[in-house]
Amino acid sequence: MADIVLDKVCKKFPDGTVAVADVDLEIADGEFVILVGPSGCGKSTTLNMIAGLEDISSGELRIGGQRVNDKAPRDRDIAMVFQSYALYPNMTVRENMAFPLRLAKLDKETINRKVEEAAKVLELSALLDRKPANLSGGQRQRVAMGRAIVRQPKAFLMDEPLSNLDAKLRVQMRTVVSRLQKKLGTTTVYVTHDQTEAMTLGDRVVIMRGGAVQQVGPPQELYDHPRNLFVAGFIGSPSMNFLHAAVEDGTLRTALGDVPIGERIRRELEGADAPRELILGIRPEHFEDAALIDDDTRRRGAEFEAPVDIVESMGSDKYVYFSVEGERASAAELEELAADAGADFSGGGASLVTRLSAESPVEEGQTRRVWFNLEKIHLFDPSDGRNLT
Ligand code: ATP
Repeated sequence: MADIVLDKVCKKFPDGTVAVADVDLEIADGEFVILVGPSGCGKSTTLNMIAGLEDISSGELRIGGQRVNDKAPRDRDIAMVFQSYALYPNMTVRENMAFPLRLAKLDKETINRKVEEAAKVLELSALLDRKPANLSGGQRQRVAMGRAIVRQPKAFLMDEPLSNLDAKLRVQMRTVVSRLQKKLGTTTVYVTHDQTEAMTLGDRVVIMRGGAVQQVGPPQELYDHPRNLFVAGFIGSPSMNFLHAAVEDGTLRTALGDVPIGERIRRELEGADAPRELILGIRPEHFEDAALIDDDTRRRGAEFEAPVDIVESMGSDKYVYFSVEGERASAAELEELAADAGADFSGGGASLVTRLSAESPVEEGQTRRVWFNLEKIHLFDPSDGRNLT
């Protein structure tokens, strides 16, 4: 078994910086887990603690059921793949890949067999005698992966392995990594700040912020049910729209008009301390041109009219930006919260981004009627960012 368990793991650097605070995480044997979050949130530090490249200040780390806090990196039986491929320039691809096996003192025949097997999986067989300087970026990264897999370690740790590649190659390498991980079934922890990688690669995604875990779950679950404003704003591109909403007599007054609230939320809002001001969150794809929907769909949503600012045609659909006047002056702390979440959220007026069908005849400068899906809205408590829906 090579499950990885972090039990209240903390990292405090000598200068007092707390990079990772009380992280609890259970990664199952064979699972592919992505650590994602903004710069400085503690992703690499977490990975380095698992690798043994950074000491753990407190808490416990277990790999395959064994406490490894004090074990040297080489005794943890894990392989690391970095953004800088860290290949030896004077060695051939074959020698680079064989290196960890030579260190492990395997016999020559076994080394050759393992290198050739790994090369086949990574489609490197024809390049075994080349030096790294004569390889493309994607090929170098595959050699770096090959060097990691030949050892058949208990786990792979990858720190932004694709971030040096250009956009197209990154997409290709994403499928290589994904296929490789599935084929080998080796526990993998992968750090990235790229939310597309996070959404497409892993079985589960861990969203971090300020050294703490914000939410852990399968990508679709994080997308559909973000636990708080931060996760909601971080996952999804373009980001979720955030608007002020005030509760009055069982309806929400918003810049998009009055929005009825469901029974469950109504109960949440009944208590004396319940927030009177909320943040309404709607993803761009949950809007549609009101002229294009059928009656059945219409009943599941609400409509508003707004001036069209910008239309961006994407071929398959259109991103349409609307000017929406904020009806409620925003408290400064609401804005701060949304800004923290990376969301576009301006107090007096907000630009609303919607994704409409390509068939919509919408034009810049028009005022257009827009429908949005009430079943997909989110409501956040601005005092702590919690998602109430
Ligand atoms: P990035 O995406 O930019 O690589 P990250 O999420 O991987 O960021 P870390 O590198 O883990 O973040 O850093 C987490 C925090 O710890 C940051 O605030 C960083 O400045 C701090 N930090 C990292 N290394 C040290 C160190 N040796 N001494 C003090 N603080 C450090």
